[in-house]
Order: sequence, then C-alpha cells, then structure tokens
Amino acid sequence: MTTPPTLAVWKFTSCDGCQLTLLDCEDELLALAGRVRIVHFTEASSTVEPGPYDVSLVEGSVTTPDELRRVAEIREQSRILVTIGACATHGGIQALRNFADIEEFTSIVYASPEYIETLSTSTPISDHVPVDFELRGCPIDRRQLLDTLCAFLAGRAPDIPNTSVCTE
Ligand code: SF4
Repeated sequence: MTTPPTLAVWKFTSCDGCQLTLLDCEDELLALAGRVRIVHFTEASSTVEPGPYDVSLVEGSVTTPDELRRVAEIREQSRILVTIGACATHGGIQALRNFADIEEFTSIVYASPEYIETLSTSTPISDHVPVDFELRGCPIDRRQLLDTLCAFLAGRAPDIPNTSVCTE
C-alpha cells in the first residue's frame, strides 16, 4: 500500500481568511482525505507532524525576524510550496508600511514599542525563498484552491492563469 502524500498549511502575517477558504472546502477535503494526509494545519487541528512535507500551502507575508527564519525552514522541508492569497503573493495590506516609517507607527500604536519585534517591510514569500506556484486573490477562490491541490497531488502543474483573482 502506498503512503498518501502529506499536506502542511502555514500561517505568516495575515488575517486567516485564506485558511478559512480551505476550511470552507469541508466536503471536498473529506473526498481528498483518502488521497492526502494533512499533517500540519494549526487553524484546524492540534496535530503537528515533523517534515518533510509533499505540499505546503503558505498564507501571509513576512513581517517579523521569526518569519524570516521560519520561511527558510518551511522551504527546506517542502517538496512543493504554494503561496495562497494576496498577503503571501504580494505582501498584503500590511505592505502599506513599506512606504512609511515603521518606528513612527509602532510608537503611535503601542504603549511599549520597545517590545515589538518587527521588520520595516512586509514582503511576499517569493522575495525570500523559491515558490512553486502562487494562488492569487483576497481571499483565494475555493475552486482554484481545490484545483491547485488536486493538480499537485496528481503530479501535474495547475491549469490556472497567473493573472486570475478571486471572483466568488
Ligand atoms: Fe486575509 Fe486577504 Fe491576506 Fe487572505 S489575502 S490572509 S483573505 S488579507
């Protein structure tokens, strides 16, 4: 009997909306369950298995020193890495900071800004590690997400235009 491929879902700086799109695919995920083992998806389960992972979905942008470290680790552990949503593919709304003074922002927003560990920029995952596929949208489209997952699990490239955005 062959072992089903493993799927891991990772969160960086984001609103969780794209992970919720995945959770919203409940019926389809059950159908996929025989073909894939979800081994890391903290939004849905406390089960955490160590890598390597066959497919990793990454939501969110890189905005902290810890995320800089984690993104490299996840890339190392993942055969296929897919970024999901505008935060992960382009930096998201939080990339507005890229055009401002982050120290001024933190001093205005936080009572003790010295405890805030943040980068002065919000950047897409592809600025830091090679990405195999980018799924765009805010949030992503559930049909495109399922098509992408099925394609990679079948060992082929997804048939989704790179300019597509969510229309649901
Ligand atoms: Fe949320 Fe949009 Fe970012 Fe997805 S792309 S995590 S929906 S802000």
